[in-house]
Amino acid sequence: NVTKVGFIGLGAMGSRQARNLQREGYELVVYDRSISRLEEYEKRDNVEVASSPAAVAQTEGVRVLITMLPACAQVREAYCGKDGILSADGGTKASLLIDCSTISPTTSREIAAAVSEARLHSGAQPFPGCSNRAPAFIDAPVSGGTTGASAATLSFMCGGEKDAVEAATPFLKAMGKKIWHCGGPSTGHAAKVCNNMALAIQMASIAEASAAGRRLGLDPKVLADVFNSSSARCWSSEAYNPVPGVMADVPASKGHKAGFALQHMLKDLHLAREAAGTAGSPAPMTEQALEIYEKVAEVDGTLDFTAIYSLFYDKDH
Ligand code: NAD
Repeated sequence: NVTKVGFIGLGAMGSRQARNLQREGYELVVYDRSISRLEEYEKRDNVEVASSPAAVAQTEGVRVLITMLPACAQVREAYCGKDGILSADGGTKASLLIDCSTISPTTSREIAAAVSEARLHSGAQPFPGCSNRAPAFIDAPVSGGTTGASAATLSFMCGGEKDAVEAATPFLKAMGKKIWHCGGPSTGHAAKVCNNMALAIQMASIAEASAAGRRLGLDPKVLADVFNSSSARCWSSEAYNPVPGVMADVPASKGHKAGFALQHMLKDLHLAREAAGTAGSPAPMTEQALEIYEKVAEVDGTLDFTAIYSLFYDKDH
């Protein structure tokens, strides 16, 4: 008896994740706001297409429902909108709901609360292992980008009840490798925004120090070697160096072609600023990083986020 999985949001990430679920033998029912994306899916064998998030949630046999949408507004609409997952008459048939989109912890808590409320009038049978809560809900944002989504090597940062995260694990494993249970509802998002907050600042620090080193007469490769075996060692220097020519096969050495686009980093930094503000946590470095990334994104937001190096060292000057 194959579990049927509902999937909403077939963009750069979602389409790849959905493909991997299918490869693992799950039957899919999908929805995307874009008609052309849906038509593409309809042409493929064994993929059922639905007309709204509510229709996915009401499809006979759907037990698990995954969302992979751009931002807070779209996730709110997909769950709580007029034709949303929770609007279905008699409640959703899916008993395990997983949101993989990157959104703010605050919005994610709102969605978790709306799901709790919907439980009161849901006819869904509890998902095996999830005591008597139906539907169960977890937040499970990802890192690993489109490469990780294609290769099913994504990392999932999960927030929610332990039994729900355990029940979701086989489905997440079909799309990724590493799964963290970070804590209660919204903590997956908290982990994701804090990680990218630190990454943005760390990358800016390597770009700034590398530019200074160059003006002080250092070969950037020598300086990177020093960093990588000294106390400045970090992912931004060692695995994704922003200085063109220091490493082969990274965006910096390929005209800063993304990679991880500036516009995506900016979205995550805005979420980080909002999350820190809501928690009353000071974030002066995040403010500074936002200014830096915004300035470079004004030129071309599709470039890789390491393009900020040009702000510190422009070869023409
Ligand atoms: P995308 O824009 O390529 O895809 C989003 C899809 O959602 C599109 O197909 C769009 O038509 C659909 N959509 C939009 N609003 C909708 C609605 N209300 N109902 C149904 N469908 C709707 O985005 P993506 O790159 O796949 O990213 C998805 C999420 O994953 C984002 O939150 C992003 O921040 C996060 N993320 C992306 C990457 C990456 O490298 N692209 C990496 C990690 C996390």
